[in-house]
Amino acid sequence: MTEAGGIVGEFLGLKEETEADLLAMQCGDFYEFFSDDAETVAAELDLKVSQKSSHGSSYPMAGVPIDELTPYLAALVERGYKVAVADQYETDDGGHAREITRVVTPGTLLETTDADARYIAAIVEDGDAYGLAFADVTTGRFHVTEVVGEDARGHLLSELYRFAPVEILPGPDLRTDDPLLERLRERTDAMLTLHTAEAFAPGKARHRVRDQFGTETLESVGVAEKAATVRAAGGVLSYVEDSGAGVLASMTRLQTHGSGNHVELDATTQRNLELTETMQGEKTGSLFDTIDHTVTSAGGRRLAEWLQRPRRSRGELERRQSAVAALSEAAMAREELRDLLDGASDLERLASRAASGSADARSLRAAAETLALLPAAIDLVADSDRLADSPLAEILRRPDVDTVEDLASELDDAIVDDPPGTITKGNIVEPSHDADLEALVENHEDALDWIDRLPEREKRKYDITHLSVDRNTTDGYYIQVGKSETEKVPDEYEQIKTLKNSERYVIPELEEREREILRLEERRHDLERELFEDLRDRVAARAELLQDAGRALATVDALTSLATHAVRNDWTRPELVEGRELDVRAGRHPVVEQTTEFVPNDLRLDTDRQFLIVTGPNMSGKSTYMRQAALITLLAQVGSFVPARSATVGLVDGIYTRVGALDELAQGRSTFMVEMQELSNILHSATEDSLVILDEVGRGTATYDGISIAWAATEYLHNQVRAKTLFATHYHELTTLADHLDRVANVHVAADESDGEVTFLRTVREGPTDRSYGIHVADLAGVPDPVVDRSRDVLDKLREEKAIEAKGGDGGDPVQAVFDVESGEFRGAATADGGAAGGETEAGDALRERFGDDAEDVLDALTALDVTETPPVELLSEVQRWQERLDDSS
Ligand code: ADP
Ligand code: MG
Repeated sequence: MTEAGGIVGEFLGLKEETEADLLAMQCGDFYEFFSDDAETVAAELDLKVSQKSSHGSSYPMAGVPIDELTPYLAALVERGYKVAVADQYETDDGGHAREITRVVTPGTLLETTDADARYIAAIVEDGDAYGLAFADVTTGRFHVTEVVGEDARGHLLSELYRFAPVEILPGPDLRTDDPLLERLRERTDAMLTLHTAEAFAPGKARHRVRDQFGTETLESVGVAEKAATVRAAGGVLSYVEDSGAGVLASMTRLQTHGSGNHVELDATTQRNLELTETMQGEKTGSLFDTIDHTVTSAGGRRLAEWLQRPRRSRGELERRQSAVAALSEAAMAREELRDLLDGASDLERLASRAASGSADARSLRAAAETLALLPAAIDLVADSDRLADSPLAEILRRPDVDTVEDLASELDDAIVDDPPGTITKGNIVEPSHDADLEALVENHEDALDWIDRLPEREKRKYDITHLSVDRNTTDGYYIQVGKSETEKVPDEYEQIKTLKNSERYVIPELEEREREILRLEERRHDLERELFEDLRDRVAARAELLQDAGRALATVDALTSLATHAVRNDWTRPELVEGRELDVRAGRHPVVEQTTEFVPNDLRLDTDRQFLIVTGPNMSGKSTYMRQAALITLLAQVGSFVPARSATVGLVDGIYTRVGALDELAQGRSTFMVEMQELSNILHSATEDSLVILDEVGRGTATYDGISIAWAATEYLHNQVRAKTLFATHYHELTTLADHLDRVANVHVAADESDGEVTFLRTVREGPTDRSYGIHVADLAGVPDPVVDRSRDVLDKLREEKAIEAKGGDGGDPVQAVFDVESGEFRGAATADGGAAGGETEAGDALRERFGDDAEDVLDALTALDVTETPPVELLSEVQRWQERLDDSS
């Protein structure tokens, strides 16, 4: 014990027991934070700090009422604190003591209002294998998986990205300075928590997993032999149990997914494709945000999960497609289904809350109403000609519908229609639910009736007009008589209070009734609470049924959402094939088409045309075109329709994307090292069934380095990996590869130039582009005309010089290619920084006259600047600086 005694001493003592950052300790009707914790919490949450004297010292204290702890907990956890909660209990000698009952962290926060899944992930390393377990305490979901092999760490990161855990438990074999953890810390917002090594011990872990999911489960899902996976699962279970969240009962099912079932999406790809959030970390503008029309939070989670885990099995995908097709044709039934689902509560979360004992009567009423939606949805589907034979009928019948109906009506009968938010004050259970309660309620109501009738009786008896009977917390029941009539009051009236216009009295009869009412009330509250807790336990025992029903409704919501989006945006059902084909007619980018007059484009890849080099001016639409290809493939493997007039999609085993480091640097994220690591990962992981998107790869280094790497990577992807590939590049030199590699073809995004004006056509055409349009960008940005004109002169001159050099000094037409394909070497070409070609020309004089000497500096800078090598943001600010200088001097 510390020096401080009393309540603060108890607080500090408990604080020593826990590793949590903060402790909330129950003191009567409040949870209090003391000492440093009080200061921290007050600063974070804008609470008032008061002083608490304890044994001669004074301590800061901040508190929140018991009923309001939840939002405060959520806010503290959100800000990265781990909060222990100590509850008060009565000791044998009638005093009070406290013990820590829960430790709340991002992964064990049950009381979230956020609809997203909240996974805790455990990682166990075992030789070259990693076991992973993911648990969501808010829904009871539990997944395990194992990654092995050469790029196990890459796959591990992909899995972690897919589940986007809010908390990560590294097992004891991972050292805290492991670069993997460093990477996780950098790239996710997850809290890293060290849980006891003991929890991950093989024997203990296995035992715990068997206890939780049944002895045969490990065998039946095929992970019994996977030691690391079992240890990870045991570790998470132990952590959830220790946290005191009390939700183990809702973790009913161990799910596993072999990586063979899903499209591999590495971590970078998930981010690049902006599946659930944009590169800037915003939800708005992500693919999910764009196509999500779900009406329930569970449906939203299901849709997000589909996007993060596209599937490879054609059968499963075609089932989803049929459902989407049927729903998009049955407009009326679709809208009715949406309306019906709109009222659904989150059954998975209700199951967890029932298990943890935190569900109130409103939750159980919501459960009853939502469970009843399942048979209603089944009827609705059966009544629609188009939907009756669709896979929807089967999806909705997966849960045990009879039991669902029974539970729904049991709850409906037992819980009153509009229950209050607290379970301690009665009025939550229907009297007809229990004979004792019914009798009790009858007596209670008789007593209340008697009170109701009392004023009339007394008025008549004593001929008093202004007489009423009321109740408040200080006086209990009383009779109130207006001042003008107090002389009519009989002796048996005992005066208890004088008010301005009236007097208050009690009579023995009333006092007696009051005692009876209080007794009945207390018994009724207790009994209702008991009955309610019974019901809640029964619901918790059927957690799995609630989860099944919830998942069926969520699946229908997600499918309805896909259909809704398809209809509203004129999407089409893609044909899924096993071959290595991707044939898209009039395809669009699903997100960009929402905000732009989008120019549709075709795309064709097949066994003879496996690799496309995409060229075109800056800003012409290269990146958009390639992402569009990836997203159409991904959506097809979600079971969704796609933004195109028609599409044939060969199923892929993985989608890999990489954006050149410079484009990423502009967003302050990546380095050339990372770019190369990820390129390496792609070259290792992709197969001939994969889709690879390379956007300006090689950009993060000097030009010749970059070209060489891009060149070699292209050859490797073409000859060895044979993956379907799209490669956008500003290295014009690469376009010659099409002449040398069979299955490489060039396409370019067209732009029109006439009268020095460039118009982006956004149309993709066969063949390479002829050049880039850097000066045009300067023009667009508003660089003064004389400077733009002058830079055209300079560019022509530089081209000539370069051509002369390349051709050994004998003049001639400008040339573009400086890379010699036959020898694989660069020949002759000078570096791009040819310096300003000073000009004693007329234009030069006119310039100097207009802008003074600044013009030369600006021109020097302009000609030295490599447009393709400079991130757009820097380009813009550079141009802005020039403008300012020229403005100043003119
Ligand atoms: P690049 O990669 O060639 O520099 P982006 O793909 O980044 O070009 O596209 C530049 C801009 O053009 C983006 O703002 C995008 O919205 C728009 N864009 C691209 N493709 C199309 C299209 N097919 N139709 C309409 N707008 C497009
Ligand atoms: Mg681009």
